[in-house]
Order: sequence, then C-alpha cells, then structure tokens
Amino acid sequence: MLCDLIIKGKYVLPMDDELSIIKDGFVAVSENKICAVGAGDEIKNYQAKEIIDAGKAIVMPGLINCHTHAAMAYFRGLADDLPLNDWLFNHIFPAEAKFVNEEFVRKSGALSCLEMIKSGTTCFNDMYFFGQEFLAEIVEKAGLRAVLGLDLKTPGYTVERVVELAKQFKDNELVKIALAPHSVYVCPRDVLEKVKQAAGAENLRVHIHVSETKKEVEDCKQARGKTPVEYLDELGLLAPATMAAHSVWLDDNDLKIYKDRGVKAAHCPISNMKLASGAAPLAKMLELEIPVGLGTDGAASNNTQDLFMEMRGCALMHKLASLNPAVVSARQAVKMATIDGAKVLGREKEIGSLEIGKEADIITINLNKPHLAPLYDSYSHLVYCAGGSDVENVVVNGRVIMKNRQVKTLDENKILREAERFNLQH
Ligand SMILES: [Zn+2]
Repeated sequence: MLCDLIIKGKYVLPMDDELSIIKDGFVAVSENKICAVGAGDEIKNYQAKEIIDAGKAIVMPGLINCHTHAAMAYFRGLADDLPLNDWLFNHIFPAEAKFVNEEFVRKSGALSCLEMIKSGTTCFNDMYFFGQEFLAEIVEKAGLRAVLGLDLKTPGYTVERVVELAKQFKDNELVKIALAPHSVYVCPRDVLEKVKQAAGAENLRVHIHVSETKKEVEDCKQARGKTPVEYLDELGLLAPATMAAHSVWLDDNDLKIYKDRGVKAAHCPISNMKLASGAAPLAKMLELEIPVGLGTDGAASNNTQDLFMEMRGCALMHKLASLNPAVVSARQAVKMATIDGAKVLGREKEIGSLEIGKEADIITINLNKPHLAPLYDSYSHLVYCAGGSDVENVVVNGRVIMKNRQVKTLDENKILREAERFNLQH
C-alpha cells in the first residue's frame, strides 16, 4: 500500500485502551489520517513518499493542552511569586489593557505556537479576551490544531461575535471556535445566560475557569449563597460540551454535579502550585470517571507551555498532597495529556491516540540522551525524565511541521528576535 508518510521508532505508544507498547513499530499516514500502526516486518506492506526513521525514539500521539492563553507568551515572567488575585488584578489585567492589540496577539501568539510545536503539543484549547481571529491565522500558519475561545469581557467581543466567528471557521480543519466566558467573577449573569443559549442553539463548546481559588468560591457563596459550580448549574451552563478549567475547590456536591451533567475538566497543576491556588480533587474526579485533561495555563502563570512539565507536575503534586506515591501513575499522566485530553475537548474520535482512521497528530521523542538512559518503561520516562526539548519530530493533520527539531512552518529566528525586541517598559 502506498501512503504519504511512515514514522518508525523503537517504541510506539498508540495510547489505545490497552496502553500497549509496540517495539520496533511504525505508523503510516495517508493524506491526513493514520492508515496503519504495526511492527517489524509488517512495514514491508507499506511504501511511503516520506519516511522518518526516528531510531531510538518513542512515537506517540501529539500532546493536547486543554487550557491555555497563547497570546500571553510575552507576559512570561512579568509578575511571579504572587497570589492569584494580586497577580491578576494588579499586574496581568493592567498589562493587558496597556499592551494587547492585534500586533501583540500575532507576535506573542506565534511565540506560544513555536514553543508548543517544539515541546510536542499538537492541539490546544485557548481562551483570551481579544484577537482570537488573528491568533487563528497564526495557528493555521503554524499548522497546529486549536480551539479558540473569546472570554467575553471585552466590548465588541460579544456572544454574537463568537457565534459569527464560529460559523466562519465551521469547516476549518485546524481551528474551531468556542464560547469561553472567563469566570463567574468576571462575567455578569446576563452574559452567562446568553452563553448558555448560544451554546445550545449553535452547538458550541463552552470553556470557563471554575473554582480556581478558595476566594472565588467564598466570594460566590457570599454573593449568591452557592458555589460557582452550583451557580453555573442553576444557569444551565453545565453540560457535556462544557469544560471547566482548574476545578480546584470542588466539594462533593460540585463533583456530583460534574458527573451528572457530563462536565469535563482541565487540570493545571503547575499554575495551581505556582499561584498556590490549591490541589484539585483529581483522585476523586478520576474515581467518578469525570474526563480530565491537562492544561499549562498562560505563560504568565506557569511559565512555559511544556506539557511534559505538566505531566510530571501532576504526578508529583498529587503524590505529595495525598502522601500516597501510587496516586496518578505515569500511565495516568500520559493518558491525561493525550487521549483523555481529546475526550475533554469532545474529539476522542478524531485525535488523542494512534489508531487507524484517526487524524495523524504524531510526535517522536529522542531517547538518545543521558537523562533518558537506561529505559525500563517508556511511560515512566515520559513523565519523570523527559522534557519538551526531547521532542524531535512533530506531525499535525498528516503534515510534518517539525523535523529533527527544525520547525518548518514558522520562522523561529524571527519570532525570537521579535520577542527579544518587545519591551514592556515602552
Ligand atoms: Zn486560565
């Protein structure tokens, strides 16, 4: 069979239900879809226009970042070591008001896209208050997959505008548009009601920050006599198409509501640790089979877009928080960054694993490194040893967008030069 691309490597991790490990395996791609996953001599049945022999490498699905703000890359390291409220209201919101415009979104967004490609992320779920139509152009140029949401706190960026944008991008292979009301503490009730209406009428996904800090929950209880989850449920906003970022301060009733309504969650361990927001009840969510993916959050609160750090942070955070080393295994963390992330975005039939018929989003990790030798278990290395800089090749939608760490779709030097030149003092 003639295909377009074959990727070979020492260990193929398809992230199928069995979490199998295929030794000396390969993945074949025809147009934008996976047409074969196999091992050894089977490869003789396939010819391809391009063959990437990754050698001593792990071949796996591209990583999925379930919660970020890509345009915030230029705010990396701007304000650190502060609690969320001080950080957000006294540093980030003022900086955004001062600097963010179309050019900012394009350049800073390109920096995030570059960083994501170079650390193995192939799909991301984004929220921002401005300019997602400009970011969409950058994402398409980068060749990444993304769901872009507007957080509805900017005049002009209304629910109607989001609906209009979503129609514009309906048939786009890489970019989808979502409703992304920032949170219950930023969006007024009438905006949230409109979101609920539009989500149902237009079949759009909803992406919202929920119960990130103790303060958010306490303020909401004081103002409305309800937790943010109870309040959102009263508004009818909790549904299978809703993804709640953070979800740190959930009580048992909140968790039950998530389960009953089919809500998905994006867990952001590094951001939650850095802002000292708290440890999400991940073990309980997993026990209830609530789909949970991983998110980096924006570069101002993490400060990278590297999902390898997120996998490790997730595993370590919950072991420490529960004083139980068996909590969040390496396999669980890799699932969260791949197939479970796809479930969180409602895309598990398209992406998140290397299976025939799925869209070809594939990465390879070079194992020929001192910190990755010897190797007893690929999952263990991915979570406890590897970093984004070990990613060697990246394929999205069947297209090779990074080969031997050379990004083919974006001008890396130009993006870095522009980032260097950007000076917040001016
Ligand atoms: Zn966020």
